[in-house]
Amino acid sequence: MKKINKVSSILLSTIVAGLSFACSNNAQQEQIFPNQIDSSISSASQKGFIASRNFTETGYTILKIYYTDAKQLETLNEMGMDVWTVQKGFVIGQANDFVMKKLKMNLQLKIEMLSPKEGFSVLNTFDPKYHTYEQTLSEMKTVAAKYPALAQLSDIGDTWEKKKGLANRDLWAMRVTGKGDGSKKPGIVFFGNHHARELVTVEIPLRLISHLLDNYGKDADITNMIDSTEIWIVPMVNPDGHTLAEKGQNWRKNKNDNKDISPTASLGVDLNRNYGHQWNTGGSSSSPSSDTFHGKNAFSEPETQATKEFMDTHKNLKIMMSYHSFSNLILWPWGWSTNPSPDAKKFETIGGKLGANSGYEPKQASKLYVASGITDDYAY
Ligand SMILES: [Zn+2]
Repeated sequence: MKKINKVSSILLSTIVAGLSFACSNNAQQEQIFPNQIDSSISSASQKGFIASRNFTETGYTILKIYYTDAKQLETLNEMGMDVWTVQKGFVIGQANDFVMKKLKMNLQLKIEMLSPKEGFSVLNTFDPKYHTYEQTLSEMKTVAAKYPALAQLSDIGDTWEKKKGLANRDLWAMRVTGKGDGSKKPGIVFFGNHHARELVTVEIPLRLISHLLDNYGKDADITNMIDSTEIWIVPMVNPDGHTLAEKGQNWRKNKNDNKDISPTASLGVDLNRNYGHQWNTGGSSSSPSSDTFHGKNAFSEPETQATKEFMDTHKNLKIMMSYHSFSNLILWPWGWSTNPSPDAKKFETIGGKLGANSGYEPKQASKLYVASGITDDYAY
C-alpha cells in the first residue's frame, strides 16, 4: 500500500499466544507457552518443561542459543532457524535437521538442546477443535449465507498445488460491511496463517468474522465499525501448508516442490519471506531446505501473489494485520531494516495501545530480528 495522506496506513503484525484461544481446551496440540519458555532459563525447570511435553521424532529440534549481538539473530534467520522468542542473551526456537547441521557446523555460539533428543520436537496431534481447510471454508460459507446483507465470501487466489492441478484450494476472503458503498469507506484486512503450523492464527480471524456479524445491531461499537469501514478477513493464506499441519506435520512453508530450482530440492517457500519489499536483503534463506527460504524471486508464490493483488487493488485499505503464533508480540515495519519507518511514531502509539489491551509486547519488527520479504513491509 502506498502511503496514504491524511489517514495514515497502519500495518501491524500480531504474534499471538499459541493457545490463548478457547479452541485450546484439552490441548494435546502442543505449542509452548511463554511461561514455559521463561522457565527454561534454569536447567532444573528445563527438565520440567521437557517432562510436560509430548515429544516425537519430527525432524526438528528445539533449541536455546546464546547470542551477544543483533547481527547474530539475523544470521540465525538466514540459516533457517524458526526463532520463537528473543530474550536478553538467548533465543529459543526450532531448527529442522538440515538447519541443525548447519548451525552446529557454522555457528560460533553456544547451542543448548531443549528437546530430549536431536530431531525430536513437540508432537502435533492436530486437536480436532482446530479447523481444517475444509471446515474453515464450510464455516465461512455458512456465515456468509446467514448474513447476506453484511458478508460476502470471495476467492482471492489459488494455492501452489491448485496452480499445478494437484489440489483444489483457494485463499478465501470474507468481506464484512454495513450500510453504504464499502469501497468508499476506509478498509482493513486481516490475514491469518501465512505459516501453516501456527494453527491458532486461523481460529482468531474465523472467530472475528462471527464476532462481528453476530453482534451487528446489538453492540453499538461493532455496528458502527461495520457501517463505517470495509473489513476483509482472510483466515488462511496458506491452505496447502495447513493440510500438512492437519496431518500432524510440523510444517511452516507452502508446498512448492522447488523442482525448478533443483530436482532434489526440499519442499516449500516461507510465504512471510517472499514479499517484494526489500526481498532477500537479510534474515531469510536462499536454501529450499531451510524454513525461512525466501523463494526463487519476490512474489514467486501464488499465495503471496494473491495477497499482493488483493492489497494492490483495494485502494481504500488503511490497515493490514497479519497473525502469527506464538510470541505475544505486536510488530510493525520495518522488518528488513533496523531504521525506523517514516511513521514510526504512529506505529508506536497504535502498537502501544494494542499492546496495553492484549498484554503483548509492542516493538518494531526488526527489534525482534531483521527479516526481509515480510508481509508488513510490503503492505506498508
Ligand atoms: Zn509465523
